[in-house]
Amino acid sequence: MDIRKACETYVANTYKRYPVTFTHGEGAHLWDEEGKEYIDLGSGIAVNIFGVSDPAWAEAVTKQIHALPHTCNLYYAEPCARLAEMLCQRTGMQKVFFSNSGAEANECMIKAARKYGEKTGRRAIITLKDSFHGRTIATLAATGQDVFHQHFGPFPAGFAYAQPNDLESVRALAAENGACAVMLEIVQGEGGVQPLDGAFLRGVEALCREKGMLLCVDEVQTGNGRCGELYAYMAYGLAPDLVSTAKGLGGGLPIGATLFAESVKDVLTYGDHGSTFGGNPVACAGAVSILERIDEELLAGVRARGEYIRGELSGAKGVRAVTGLGLMLGIETEKPAAGIVQECLTRGVLVLTAKTRVRLLPPLTIGWDDLKAAVAILKEVIAG
Ligand SMILES: *Cc1c(COP(=O)(O)O)cnc(C)c1O
Repeated sequence: MDIRKACETYVANTYKRYPVTFTHGEGAHLWDEEGKEYIDLGSGIAVNIFGVSDPAWAEAVTKQIHALPHTCNLYYAEPCARLAEMLCQRTGMQKVFFSNSGAEANECMIKAARKYGEKTGRRAIITLKDSFHGRTIATLAATGQDVFHQHFGPFPAGFAYAQPNDLESVRALAAENGACAVMLEIVQGEGGVQPLDGAFLRGVEALCREKGMLLCVDEVQTGNGRCGELYAYMAYGLAPDLVSTAKGLGGGLPIGATLFAESVKDVLTYGDHGSTFGGNPVACAGAVSILERIDEELLAGVRARGEYIRGELSGAKGVRAVTGLGLMLGIETEKPAAGIVQECLTRGVLVLTAKTRVRLLPPLTIGWDDLKAAVAILKEVIAG
């Protein structure tokens, strides 16, 4: 079979693909159909956080596939209960709703915020310019980037976009629109790997408390150890009311989770929300195996690897700036990012872009030798 031709012919053309077809992987290594080996600094966009086919994860998943792959949410099942309990114990949140993707986790967060706003009549949600919250109609409406809005309106009303790192702009829009919530990413991922200022984040939290608004944090990309804490909001000592996450939590299988703090734990009740596949036992069993290994030692390793990459690239030839947190890094380069990705691919290193920047999201457990080899190549490509 001509895989690329079939893909171009039969799969909807919403993605421009690189000319490579992967057949298998192990840890931070991937192999294509010609047997060429690659070092992975993208983790399938922050998903394969323990590398490809991590053995413990694969075993947990395989065991669950043989025992009970699906039940639906009309019945109880152990993996979903275990994962929810772990998430709550690790975060201090009180309840979890499981879905299958980041956009779905955000949809649930938006629905919960809207219902919470019902009692005050304030229903608007303030998000930030350059944010990204997903590709469904409501999460696109929440996304503060015009480029994603073309062609797909009309959008649901009640979203307004404040300036990142500008508390007064959040305050003004919240008052003007009657807002029940502020929704943000701690590091804006698709918006170019832009971390928000700690002072701004704490200011937004204080504003939310003052005005009775919910603080909603989208940890779809930043979460699950990626930024050097279990969730990135923890790096700033925040106490959000709602947290959404996905990508890395599943370790390679689709999962989304929306976490509810005490303040909103009873907002959604019977019949308010649902998902046929949400809480799928296989995805949850895999996620349990991932989450139980995101411990202090792993997080220290994430921070050390992040520091290493920063140290290598900051001030290096062709590098204008390095942004990000932990192992979620953006590199502003003199050469266009797209060309760098292509050249790295040719040289056997997988990197991503975010807006004009090169974006790195390596597996959290990438071996030091692999990391050093890949960064050395990336550095040469950026300088060349
Ligand atoms: C990727 C991403 C999403 C969307 O997740 P999907 O699983 O693609 O629906 C939402 N928010 C953020 C911050 C993301 O990075």
